[in-house]
Formats: sequence, structure tokens, C-alpha cells
Amino acid sequence: MLATLNGMAGFYAGRFCMRVDFLCRPAVTVKLEKSVSAPGWTDRTRKEEHMPELPEVETLCRQLRQKVPHAKIKGTFILDSKLGKLDNLKGRGIASVTRLGKRIVLGLDDGRSLEIHLRMTGRLLWQEKPDIGEKPPHSRFILDLTPGRIIIVDPRRFATLSLVADAAKGNAAVDALKPGCPEALKEKGCNRSRSIKSFLMDQSIIGGIGNIYACEILYRAGLNPLRRTADLTSEDWRRVGSAMVEVLSKAVVCRGTSISDWRDLFGCKGEYQKELRVYGREGKKCPHCGGIIQRVRLLGRGTWFCPNCQA
Ligand SMILES: [Zn+2]
Repeated sequence: MLATLNGMAGFYAGRFCMRVDFLCRPAVTVKLEKSVSAPGWTDRTRKEEHMPELPEVETLCRQLRQKVPHAKIKGTFILDSKLGKLDNLKGRGIASVTRLGKRIVLGLDDGRSLEIHLRMTGRLLWQEKPDIGEKPPHSRFILDLTPGRIIIVDPRRFATLSLVADAAKGNAAVDALKPGCPEALKEKGCNRSRSIKSFLMDQSIIGGIGNIYACEILYRAGLNPLRRTADLTSEDWRRVGSAMVEVLSKAVVCRGTSISDWRDLFGCKGEYQKELRVYGREGKKCPHCGGIIQRVRLLGRGTWFCPNCQA
């Protein structure tokens, strides 16, 4: 019973939610409590899509590395035909876990890779043997391994799964945790007539940044999200690169941002929501200057910034 609760815990976003601490402590405890809205978040913020970004995917990869290297595949079970078909992988070993942008790549011992892209609402859940419980609602795929199983849970069914010969092929994007020197960023952006925010979120240029972290990076860099990349100076690009590493590294340590339904591999909430300075804080005071944080729409997404601190 407890295992069942563990498995289902992170995936309910109603008035009540379950808190599961079984990853954090050896003893399994399940406590049912009211969910509490974090201060500063508006209903409009919660309606924004919170798709997994680099810190959330990196968190999953790090947690998978604790569990699956050297594991053998016992079976694969596609529960949603929209995912397509998969070769028989029974007996194959998991040799590695890597992240490419927002994709999770499970390297197999035959050189191929199983690639998972969570996209909008996809989540991964680990269930350990011998306490494997029932699969949670919206389960779409089960990877049954010798020490336990990985489940893709995805209410909106946008997550994708593919078996590829070379996962890195065609991936020319810079990883946002390693953006390289400011001049390299400037070179990519200097000839583009677009906003710096849309530049940061373009996965073909920089892999891993979505709406939450783009807003937070630009706040820390002191740049207005609407600024055109062609107008940015070398110093601006230096601040962007520095803020990118600072924000994303901290968010990885915090295991991502749980504003709505994000949970890590073991059903625990992330902690980076406590570090947010502008995202979702429309009408609140800027923690630096005391000015009022504003919200505009950019490329169809809510965009929060401080007009005083971000020129
Ligand atoms: Zn400010």
C-alpha cells in the first residue's frame, strides 16, 4: 500500500496533495496534507505551462544515475500507442545516463540509446523493488529493470520515446549549463533581430532553457527581456552567460521548481520556487530595488521583469 502511495504521490495536483519523503530518508512516511500556495504566485501563473526545463531534466538524470547504470532491461511496456513501437530490448543493459538539452538519453550496452523527451507534462517515476506498487494515472510507458522500474507519466501525452543509433547526431545547440565564452554567445545573437528572451529559449541555439529560467536569468543579468540581441554589448553577453550558469546550477541543486505539478524521480518537490525573484510575481516588489514587477506577453508566454533593474 505504501509503495502504491509512493508511486502515485507526485502526480496529483488537486486541493490535497501527498508529501512523500521516502527518497530523503530510509524510513517510508506518507503524510496527507493540504497543499499551500506559495506567496506571490497568482492564479494566472499557475495556469502557465510548467514544462520540465534543464534543471528538472538534469535532476532526473542525476537521480537515474543512482539507480540504473548496470541494470538490465527485463521488459518494455508501451501503454499508449501514441508513443509508437519499440524494438525488443529484453536483456540489454543500461550503460549510461546523459542529458542533451531537455532530453534524457539512456545509453544501452549495444551502442544504441533510448531517448526520452518529456515536453509539456511528462514526468518520470521510479518504483523500487520489491515494493513496486500500482502504476499511477496517465502512465504511458514502463521500463522494467532488474532493480526497479521507470514509468513515464504524462497527462497531456506530448512526451516522446525513441530508440536511436546516435543520440548526439544533429544536436548543435550549446548546453545552457556550459554556455562557453561571452563572445561565442554574442556571435550567435548579433545578427538576429529578435528579443533576448526568445533567443535564450530557442532550443536550436541553446539547449535547456524554458520560460521560468529565461525570466530569472534576465533578471539576474539586468536585461529587459524585450531587448534585441543585435543591440547587446559584450558586457551584456558576459552577464547573460554568467547569470545562466548561476541560475541553472542553483536550480539543479534545488532539484527544479515545483510551482504546480513538478516532482522529481522519487516524487519529491523541487525547491527552486523559493529562489524565484520575478517569475510569477506580477505586482509584487522587486527584491532588489523595491519597484513593482511587471508582466508582459512575449511569444505567447507570460514574461516577468523589473523595469528598474532590467534596462
Ligand atoms: Zn528592481
